Parts: sequence; C-alpha cells; structure tokens
Amino acid sequence: MSKAMHAKPFRLTGPYTARHARPESPRSKLIRAVSLGLACVCLLLTATVYPASAATNSTSMASLQTKLDKLSQSINQHKKELSDAKKKESAAKALESELKERVTVLQDQISVLGGQIAAVQNSIGEKEQQIGVMQTQITDKQTQIEQKQNEIDAQWDDFKKHMAAMQELRDGGSVAMLSAVNDLYELLTFNEVMQDISIKDTEIMNNMKSAKQGLEDDKAALEEQKAGLEAEKAELQSQKSELDSQNAQMKGKQSELNNSISAAKLSAAEAQAAQQKAQAAIESDELNYEAVKKEIQKLIAAASASKPQLSFSGFACPLKSYSRISSEYGWRKNPVSGVNKLHAGIDFAAAGGTPIYAAASGYVQVAGWSTGGYGNYVIIYHGKMSDGNTYSTLYAHMRSVATSAGKYVKQGELIGYVGTTGNSTGNHLHLEVWKGGSKANAVNPRSCIPIPHN
Ligand SMILES: [Zn+2]
Repeated sequence: MSKAMHAKPFRLTGPYTARHARPESPRSKLIRAVSLGLACVCLLLTATVYPASAATNSTSMASLQTKLDKLSQSINQHKKELSDAKKKESAAKALESELKERVTVLQDQISVLGGQIAAVQNSIGEKEQQIGVMQTQITDKQTQIEQKQNEIDAQWDDFKKHMAAMQELRDGGSVAMLSAVNDLYELLTFNEVMQDISIKDTEIMNNMKSAKQGLEDDKAALEEQKAGLEAEKAELQSQKSELDSQNAQMKGKQSELNNSISAAKLSAAEAQAAQQKAQAAIESDELNYEAVKKEIQKLIAAASASKPQLSFSGFACPLKSYSRISSEYGWRKNPVSGVNKLHAGIDFAAAGGTPIYAAASGYVQVAGWSTGGYGNYVIIYHGKMSDGNTYSTLYAHMRSVATSAGKYVKQGELIGYVGTTGNSTGNHLHLEVWKGGSKANAVNPRSCIPIPHN
C-alpha cells in the first residue's frame, strides 16, 4: 500500500462515518447539536430551491421511463402481430396453391368427361339417323302394303261378280241361259269358262295375299330393327345423362374450389394489410422511442449542467456487509500475459445476492448489460463534491440491476445485487470512482469512500 493511498481523504460526512465515530465528548455533543440545527435550516432552505427542481426532474424522468417501457411493450406486441400476420399470409398462400392444384386436376377430369359426353352424343346422333332411315323404309313398306290391299280389294270385286254369275247359272238360271245358248255343248263350254275364271281369280287373289304378307313381314322386320336402335339410343341417353350428372357435380366442386381460392386470396391480402399496419406501428413506436430516449438524455444532460441540484456531502460504502476486499485499486502485472494494467476499482468479495446501495445521491446514467466485461452494471452521476470536482461511481458484475437509467437515486437506495456476471470468476462487487465523469480519471475509491481494510 503506497503512502498516497493512506493519505487522509477529503471531508466525509456520510452515514458510514457517523456510525463509526468514536464515543462523543460533551463538547462534540454540543457541536453536533448546533450543526444538526444548521443542517436542518440548510435542508429547509435547499428543499425550497434545489430539491423542488430535482424532484420535478426526477418525476418527468420517471414518466419518460414509463413511456419508454410502454413503447417497448408496444413494439414487442406489434412485432408479434407482424409475425402472426406473416404466418397467416404464408398459410393462406399455401392453401391457395394447394386449391389451385386441385382445380387443375379437376379441370383435367372435366375435360376428359367432356370428351366422353361428346362421343356419346355423337353415337346418339348416328342412332337417330339410322332410326330415321329405318322409319322411311317402314313408311315405304306401309304404302306398298296399302297399294296391295287396294289391288286385293279390286280383285275381290271381280271375283264376287264372277261368283254371282256362276251362282245364277247353277240356280235355275239355266232356263234363261238356255235361251241364250244354242246347244248343250255351248252351255257346257260356258260353264267351263266360268269355272276357269273362278280358278284364275282365286290364284290371283292368293298371289296378292302372299305378296301382301311378304310386305307385312318386311315391315315387321324393319320395326324390330327400329325398336333395337331405339333401345340402343335409350341406353346411350342413359349413359349421357349419367356423364352429364358427373360433369355437373365436378363443375359444382370446381366452383366451390374457386370460392375457397377467393377466400384464401382475401385472407392473404388481409394478412398483408395487417403486416403493413403492424410495420407502420413499429416504425412509429420506434421513432417515438428514439424521441423519448433523446428527452431522457436531454434531462440527464440538463441535470449534469445544473450541478447545484446535486449537492452531497460524501460517499458511504455501497455494501452493508462483505467478506473481504479481494483486490485493491492499482497497477498490477497480469500473471498470464505479463502486461501491466490498472485495476481501476476495488473488489468486494461478497455473497451472491447481497444488496448494493448507491454510494451517494445522483442520477443513474447507465443501468444494464455491458459488452465490455462489466456484466450487469450501473453508473451513477453525483455532481459536484465538496472538493469542487464532479464524481460518478460504477458498480459492476451485478447478478441483477434494481434501478433504471435516468432515475434519481438517494444515497443508500438499492440499485442492484452482488453477482458474477461479465468478466468475473466469483461473486464480488467491482466499484470504480470516476473524477470528472470519465473512466480515464478513475481514482482509488479509498480516497473518498470509507472502506475498512480487511
Ligand atoms: Zn475489479
């Protein structure tokens, strides 16, 4: 320990010093009473001037911090909305493309079916044509049959006349006949002629009847063929109506799918709109966040500028209890690298979770994670001391921070807990004291903070 490090620090009137004062003499009791009275007057005076503005500052600082927290929550909320909307959009697009694939398959099936329907329709047309031809033939046959019937009817009239003549010849008409006939030979000959005529008539009649029967048979055969064609046509029509019904079903399905595609598209568009809205909200919140941060920085800067607000009489030890000082402030050689380096603070070995208190009142400049090896750490700006210099204190390797940037803390107020975060090998508090607000002017904490040597 160098002589300089043992040099008496400037006046310290913090609670630590008071607690550890020697038993008081009556004279010192009197001095204490007087100074206590004076202190009260001073407190009343300062309370009307500085703490008022300090309080206003700390109130607006607190409300800004609340704003900042709310904006941070809002940003997170909108980021979640954004991510949900993105998921929704991609799900809707996946559904849309799946539905489109199904429509394509369905369209192929509909097209095949359309081909089948056209083929059946074509066959039906052919059958109808054949039936038409058949019908013409049947009509022709019918005409021929009617002609034959007319011929038969005409022949039948002749036959009846001839038969009547024969009848007359046989029933007593012979007397009258005899008068017309010259001899028996003539009579017999006439009779034979009449009989010949009768036989001829019968032959002709029979031929005509058989011709008519032939026509009737032809017609019946045609009718049968036509009935066959009609049956085939009916079968084709039933096939066609089955195909038509399948086609209608598929078209119904296709229209359903198209509706679903429209719904999926709408859903994707809605999700896109929600993303844009969330994105806009995030951007606006982030702008506000930056603005509020700037306001906080301004307040801190203003607090730094108006130093009289921060009047304090001295530091107190930030730990109420600790096991030992594990490392003092000073230059030392790194045992591994051999490089000479300043240990810019004092290390208090203490149980993890031991409360850490502000060594003096001031504004919290930093409260959070350090990327430089301090772990969770806090810097408090204290303003001007009785020696005329401004001071800041730094508390490193905290398990957790219990204050926030911009907050005004009083001496002895809880700011965090001992831990071993950052570049640390065990639970301890690394404490630095900066003169003039810069680490470059880190002084030995023992020069201003009452720390027992142990
Ligand atoms: Zn250290």
